[in-house]
Amino acid sequence: MRAHVDQNDCIGCGLCVATAPDIFVMNENGKAQAITETTEKNHQLVREAIEGCPVGAIQEKEHQEENR
Ligand code: SF4
Repeated sequence: MRAHVDQNDCIGCGLCVATAPDIFVMNENGKAQAITETTEKNHQLVREAIEGCPVGAIQEKEHQEENR
């Protein structure tokens, strides 16, 4: 699994980066993006980031979907 931030929906509030700094970073467009796969270890933080995102911009996708 990998978290995916919808670049159109993200408002760049930075909450997911604050919640899970090992997984999300802000990119040059001022939007968040995931930089690593979701593992058993960090999955709880990813869930928190997904639930905490004010605009629901974060989803989790299977690898094959990521390449569409
Ligand atoms: S919490 Fe949501 S809106 Fe805020 S930076 Fe992360 S993805 Fe974007």
